[in-house]
Amino acid sequence: MRYDESSPPPPESSSSVSPDRPWYTRRSTLVVAVAALAPACLAGWVLTEVLGGGASDDSRPPRIVMPLASSSHVSASTGTGTGPASPAPSPAPRATPGGTPDAARPLAGRTVVIDPGHNPGNFKHTAEIDRQVDIGTNRKECDTTGTTTNSGYMEAEFTMDVSQRLRTVLEAKGAKVVLTHDAAKERPFGPCIDERARIGNEAAADAVVSVHADGVSAGNRGFHVILPARVKGGGADTAKIIDPSRRLGERIAGNFARTTGSAPANYLGSGTGLVVRDDLGGLNLSTRPKVFIECGNMRDAKDAAQLTSPEWRQKAAQGIADGIVGFLGG
Ligand code: ZN
Repeated sequence: MRYDESSPPPPESSSSVSPDRPWYTRRSTLVVAVAALAPACLAGWVLTEVLGGGASDDSRPPRIVMPLASSSHVSASTGTGTGPASPAPSPAPRATPGGTPDAARPLAGRTVVIDPGHNPGNFKHTAEIDRQVDIGTNRKECDTTGTTTNSGYMEAEFTMDVSQRLRTVLEAKGAKVVLTHDAAKERPFGPCIDERARIGNEAAADAVVSVHADGVSAGNRGFHVILPARVKGGGADTAKIIDPSRRLGERIAGNFARTTGSAPANYLGSGTGLVVRDDLGGLNLSTRPKVFIECGNMRDAKDAAQLTSPEWRQKAAQGIADGIVGFLGG
């Protein structure tokens, strides 16, 4: 059963998963320096990040798991992208209203939209959330219920908690933060996926992150970040967000691994923690840089132990926030 707009592609697409192509196809003296910086538990991740070769090939059929397109970041070791290699052409931090750049508020003048996946009320409004909405390239359910842990902790509770923690961190860094829905004044269900995208677009968000957790069989572990595929149809045209969304996703993946200690998913993404999908309305309809993050697998007991921990969720929020700061050039 597909619980989730962001659940993995259906089985028939698994054959389209690209063969695992090692990232570490290049050797460089940079490896030594970076390896020295990286915590042991993340060394492999960092190495593959830094060494990630291979050109982006957006001409491939979408919905394939793709290797990293660039070797642009070492944020897994530097945290916020302020390390020696931060070539992403993100704009410099904006001045504060007073006109003085403020290192403590690197996101001053920036708008970040956070999209807590699902809604705890969706279970009670199945007719409403089953309504089909236009995602440009297709039609799809308004929203889904999300998954739960085996003990009943709802994905929608998880996503709201992480989103609120993330908002607090980002606001402290000076960002204007918009949530697509908020537990403080929760709506009965939804929003629908097209509305979730529209909120980011209308806010002219500098970055949008949709927060989720996966619901697949036990033994599948780890996080992954979902990047938009190149799609065009109806109201969907992702051409302009492909590249910035990938940079955003790479930053978040590296920082999330660093702060949480979690590994990239072992069941998709070829160990990169990055997956490209063309079937998510929330990405297809976005005109702003946007990614989804699946923070872990709620159906796996070890992942669930983390997802149900407030301390771990704080680390998750911190990692996502650090990724956003890195992406936005803070
Ligand atoms: Zn979800």
